[in-house]
Amino acid sequence: METKDLYKVLGVDKGASQDEIRRAYRKLARKYHPDANREDPKAEERFKDVQHAYEILSNPEKRREYDEGPRTFFGAGASRGGADRVDTNFSDLSDLFGNFGDIFGSAGRTQPQTTRGEDVTVSVTLKFKDALEGVTTRIAAPVEEACGQCRGTGASPGTVRRMCPECSGRGIRSRDQGFFALSEPCRRCGGEGSIVEKPCAGCAGSGRLRKNRQVTVKVPAGAKDGMKIRVPGRGSAGRKGGPPGDLYVVTRVAEHPVFERHEDDFLVDVPVSFAEAALGAEIEVPKPGGGTVKLRLPAGTQDGKRFKVRGAGAPRVRGDGEPGDLVVRVGVVVPKKLTRREREILEALAEERDEDVREKLLRATGEAGM
Ligand SMILES: [Zn+2]
Ligand SMILES: [Zn+2]
Repeated sequence: METKDLYKVLGVDKGASQDEIRRAYRKLARKYHPDANREDPKAEERFKDVQHAYEILSNPEKRREYDEGPRTFFGAGASRGGADRVDTNFSDLSDLFGNFGDIFGSAGRTQPQTTRGEDVTVSVTLKFKDALEGVTTRIAAPVEEACGQCRGTGASPGTVRRMCPECSGRGIRSRDQGFFALSEPCRRCGGEGSIVEKPCAGCAGSGRLRKNRQVTVKVPAGAKDGMKIRVPGRGSAGRKGGPPGDLYVVTRVAEHPVFERHEDDFLVDVPVSFAEAALGAEIEVPKPGGGTVKLRLPAGTQDGKRFKVRGAGAPRVRGDGEPGDLVVRVGVVVPKKLTRREREILEALAEERDEDVREKLLRATGEAGM
């Protein structure tokens, strides 16, 4: 297993002070931040490495562990449950973007938490056929986007956010209650630790604007009604450098007048004549995706009998399992009117069979009622 040198990742010496490590981290995090490198997929990898290195080296205890045996941090036995999986945590980056640097550079204060953007849910109505075959569609999602004029800071262009004078940027105030101190969120800044002196005209100081974002969504083949498709990072913008929320697209699939969906199977009612049911026949039945499929009815097929056409249902959305089945339920059609000749033939048939089809039923109920 490859072992990355965390000190090299940050470009510092083994004996670097916590201050030097922090400075190096801030410089690199700014350089490789995904928001600033949308075109460069490698930047995100570097960003995660930098993030990871800082997480270890900024913590004296973890740093000591690393110095003693660096392998455990990138190897299979990594303490955080995975070698490459580093959760992108933006909490230390609140001051890197949007003119926060000059205020929050000072040490020894509590940094306000970054806020992840809200998840947004929209629904999309699909035609039966599109849901079955899959479709790429554009939808309008009402999301909060970072204001372009102030780049999300809420401060009028040319001005910056100021440290809140009420709480000295801590976001909380301590009130002396005699024997003990009570902490509460600062009212002046709403707990953010900073205030806007001149609000941005574009967003009235909120830093975000409601927009109808056009999003392209790929609906997989076999989509069901009520299915949730997650589009990562396409929800509302985060606050204070926080990551964006996700977009959830809920599918609404129009019902088909003929095919009734049950999970990945479809049920279809197919009429057959008395002669076909009695004699057996090869019949054509429609498929949900269009076209027909041949089905062999055995002689003596009973009304309501179900037959399975394997694989003629909906594709499985997840994985590459077998598609669902088409279930054919036959219904024997009884003629409503008979010609004189037909009547004669049927009467001859009845005479020929000379049977009492209810005999068994009556015998069973008669015995039970003794
Ligand atoms: Zn603005
Ligand atoms: Zn305040």
